[in-house]
Amino acid sequence: MYFNVQGIVIQEKSFGETSKHLSVLTAHRGVIFVTAKGAKKLSAKNFAAAQLFAYSDMTLYGSGPYFTMTDAKLIESFYSLRNDPVVLSLACYLAELSAVSATVSDEESELLRLFLNTLWFLNQKPEAHTFAKAVFELRLMFGSGYMPEFVCCACDCEITVGCFDASSGEFTCSECLLTRSEGKKLLEETIDAMKYIAFCDLKRLFAFSLSDKALKQLSALTEEYVCYRVDGCNTKLVFYKNMASL
Ligand SMILES: [Zn+2]
Repeated sequence: MYFNVQGIVIQEKSFGETSKHLSVLTAHRGVIFVTAKGAKKLSAKNFAAAQLFAYSDMTLYGSGPYFTMTDAKLIESFYSLRNDPVVLSLACYLAELSAVSATVSDEESELLRLFLNTLWFLNQKPEAHTFAKAVFELRLMFGSGYMPEFVCCACDCEITVGCFDASSGEFTCSECLLTRSEGKKLLEETIDAMKYIAFCDLKRLFAFSLSDKALKQLSALTEEYVCYRVDGCNTKLVFYKNMASL
């Protein structure tokens, strides 16, 4: 059976002398596995579409779970991400997070658009990689069923100032926080950013700015939020952090 699918390569592995095995993130089928025969040869017609982070309209053959690429039209290569090792290592971490979060669904999935939008943003503003990482992590978690209620877990008031517990996903307002010893108070700006990331149109996801202090808070809590909920991305995360600290 032949069919067409739009997807981005999030993992590539050599297969034999000339071929590749690819993991491809798609809109409706989650992550699928694709064999690109002969794709390691420069002269191969699928050479460009079989590169890491190549986004293409692919013609595939087979009934799954492994499909064979018979043709592909490249839409965007994201090749320039490779010029910056920090951005490249971040993109690899985000790809791994996407792979473990992807589900097969007939519904229009947001994950592919979220990943593409983040790569486009990183292409434009590679220096804003810390911001891109925090925004991606939080929107991914919110879209994966881990959306917190923006109310205080003790008094139920709408949260504007207070603290956030990344392990439970609960807010505590600053009034209730006075009766507790633990919990670091967040800036109002940080909580506003969390609400923005939760509810904005995906097209506008990166269309806001943050002070350095708020970004530091946001960045620490999104990473912690992910680490409590997703296994298996630590190696890529540590590699990105090592690259970013050089
Ligand atoms: Zn409260």
